[in-house]
Formats: sequence, structure tokens, C-alpha cells
Amino acid sequence: MLDRAKNHNDTLTRSMLYPFANVTHLAKNPPLEIVGGEGVHVFDRTGKRYIDGQAGLWNVNVGHGRDEIKAAIRDQLDKISYYSVFGGTTVTPAVELADLLCEMTEPEGMVRAFFSSGGSEAAEASFKLVRQYWRQRGQPTRTKIVSLKRAYHGVTLGALSANGTTAYREAYEPLVPGFFQVETPHLYRNPFTDDHEALGRLCAELLEREIAYQGPHTVGAFIAEPVQGAGGVIVPPANFWPLVREVCDRHDILFIADEVVTGFGRLGSMMGSRHWGVKPDIMNFAKGINSGYVPLGATMMNAKVADAFITDDDAQFSPAAFFHGNTYAGHPLACAAAIANIKIVVEENLPENAGRVGAYFLERLKDVQTRHPILGDVRGLGLMIGVELVSDPETKQPFDLGENVGARIADHCRERGVLIRNLADTFIISPPLTLGTGEVDEIVDAFEDGLARV
Ligand code: PMP
Repeated sequence: MLDRAKNHNDTLTRSMLYPFANVTHLAKNPPLEIVGGEGVHVFDRTGKRYIDGQAGLWNVNVGHGRDEIKAAIRDQLDKISYYSVFGGTTVTPAVELADLLCEMTEPEGMVRAFFSSGGSEAAEASFKLVRQYWRQRGQPTRTKIVSLKRAYHGVTLGALSANGTTAYREAYEPLVPGFFQVETPHLYRNPFTDDHEALGRLCAELLEREIAYQGPHTVGAFIAEPVQGAGGVIVPPANFWPLVREVCDRHDILFIADEVVTGFGRLGSMMGSRHWGVKPDIMNFAKGINSGYVPLGATMMNAKVADAFITDDDAQFSPAAFFHGNTYAGHPLACAAAIANIKIVVEENLPENAGRVGAYFLERLKDVQTRHPILGDVRGLGLMIGVELVSDPETKQPFDLGENVGARIADHCRERGVLIRNLADTFIISPPLTLGTGEVDEIVDAFEDGLARV
């Protein structure tokens, strides 16, 4: 091991390349090293305690250090830590979790689960399922995937090609052909209208126009997050998802819900799609599925999709086989953690807590907005909240990026023992779903103090 004692902060950045980070910035602003966690709190190496306003990376929904999950992982470790689920063998926790997930998503009509190791892999699996589904159904030209601008579906090349943020895409172009993005219904920043319903109608119509332009017979699926996350927490109008479902149905296009952040309670409903009253054909899970205790992703499908893979051909390597799978698919430790995690989410009714505490959180932030007009927009649903800072609330002009306004406020919150994540000048607040209103007050007070100083 390299010696870490001499200049500790340097050692944090000398060997490791960090995700989504500028090496030069990090060298001057070393990351906070988290060494422990309990409930909604985490600890750094000096023992300082922080409220985790970001639930890790919007995934530690049941909080840190839950004994039930640790015990489930330990019990599984004592049995076997890994075995393959590739066809000829399987492992008990994966089979049990698949049943549990189908039961939980019965309202959406999901009947089968395909496991992977995270959200990007869940997206890849969904795209490959879609392409093969259409081949099986005799429409092999239906290969294209349509998504929304500002979408975030992951970083692998397929998922990245469905993303709608230029900064994440451009260094890695050319991306996968056959992916197209249409306008997202972003109330705060759109050139069309201030009327939420009208915006929902208009964006659904733009989707339909794009499908017509591409040729419906070339489009396989539309993918979207129930509430866009990394794009800045964009809550669509209530009519948008139902209208999108209608558009997809009119053109026989599959609808994929990326529930990586919204699944398992974050929006105040068990599933994000359920909040909008819409049944997707495919649902992608990761993060909240097991609160990040062990990496896991899942791609769920309804009977329409699943049945296309049931044919008269029973040969082991039939073309109807799904030729896709990661070594860690259905990892027994991850699946055991998921089963224990879901039990907590259900028994503690965490979706209800997320809805109630999230409403209080938004109310408090909107009150802060009355005193600090640089809070251009406060938006969110449940415990998925976005706060966008602007230099001029009238024109919605953003701050100069070089001013690092968001980062400075985040640093101040950190000093006060509050961790919240900023993507430039938009704060993304996504605490564990076990958060209480007292902790909301601590976060908001630190944030307001940070605003006053900046
Ligand atoms: N989909 C959504 C909606 C996400 O927010 C993320 C990750 N933030 C992903 C997919 C990708 O998940 P992962 O980082 O586990 O690959």
C-alpha cells in the first residue's frame, strides 16, 4: 500500500480517476472521504457527522448500516457468495427476488425480471430486449429508440446514446446510431408556454411528430424517467405520461420506464410510473432496489414482451434465446440485499414518508425562495428535489460557471454537516426516504445560510 499518512488529501486523488470529475479541480478540492454511516447520517475520517442529503447517489433509500440488510448479506455469504445464473444453474435469492419484483409490479403488469449490475446495464438490457422483441415479432426494422432531452439513462454507449445532456455526450461521439431525443416538458426552461398542461400536450405531440418523421415502423421504443433526475429534477406535467402512453400505443411502440431513481418509493409512490397512472412495457431498476448495499440492476418486462421469447423451438441455442447477460447478473449477495431492503421499504411504508416529508421540504425551500430571489426555481416530487440558482430571476440568466456558486454553497453546507449535491448551479436533493422533518430543517437552514454568504 502507498503511504497515506504524509499528505492525506493528495493521496485521495493521486491514483484514482474519479467519475464525472475534472482531475485539475479535484486536485485542488479533494473529495470528502466517507468512512462510516448510520441511518440518514455519514461520517468522515475525523468522526465529523453529516446528514446525507443525497442518499449516497440517490440510492441509499433505507439509510446506512441497516442491520436487516447486513444480516441478509452475511447469511447468504455463509451459504455461497457467487454462482452463475447463465442457463444451466441458478441461485436462490435471484429466483426469489424475481418473484418478489413481479409481485410488486403487478399493477404495472410486469411478469419477468432480468438482472444486471446497475442502471446503465439495465438500460442496455432493455434496448436489446426491444430490438429482439421486434425481430421475434417479425418487424426487424423497429430498432430505433426515442428519448427525451435532459434524460439520463447511464454511461455505457447504448445508454449514453439515449441521454439528453450535451456535456455528457459530446466527448464520446459518435454514439450508437438510431437514438433520437425530443423536447422534454421543462416548465422552468422552455420556449413554448408557462401552462403546464399545454406544455405536456405539446411535448407529447413533438414526440409523435418525431415518430412520424422517423417512420413508426422503424421505432422500437420510447424511454423516459418518471421524473428526470440528473437532467436537473424535471417533474413532467400530470398529463404527459398518459399522453405518451397513448402516442406509443397509436404507433405500437414499446414504452420503457427508467425507474432507476424513482422505483421503490422516492416520489411518494412505490413506483414512479404508478404516480402518473401509466403502465410501461419495460421497467428498469437499480439504486433503490437494494439501497446500494451491493450493486444490482433489473429490467422488468410485461407479458407482451416476455411472451415473444416463448417459441416452439426448444434448442439450447435457439435464435429466440436472449443472448445477453453479465457475470454478476443475479448476484446472490445483491439479490439477498434487495429482498431485505424491499421488506424495509414496505414495512416502514417509506413511499408515504417520502411523500409527506418531501412536501414539507418543498414548502420550506419555497419559503427560502421568497427571501433569496437567486433561487430561480424550486421543484420536485416526494424526496426528489431540485433547486436551480440564477443570477437574474427575471431573465433566468445562469451564473457564470467560473464563479462556482453552487460548489461554494455546497462547501458551506458541508462545513455545517450537511451533504447536498450540486450539478453546477442546480442542487439535487435526494436524501434517504427515512428522513424526518427535523432533518429537513437542518438541511434547509444550512442551505439558506450558504445562500446568504454567497
Ligand atoms: N438511469 C437513471 C435514471 C439514473 O439516474 C442512473 C444513474 N444516476 C442510471 C440510469 C445509471 O445507473 P448506473 O450509474 O447504476 O449505471
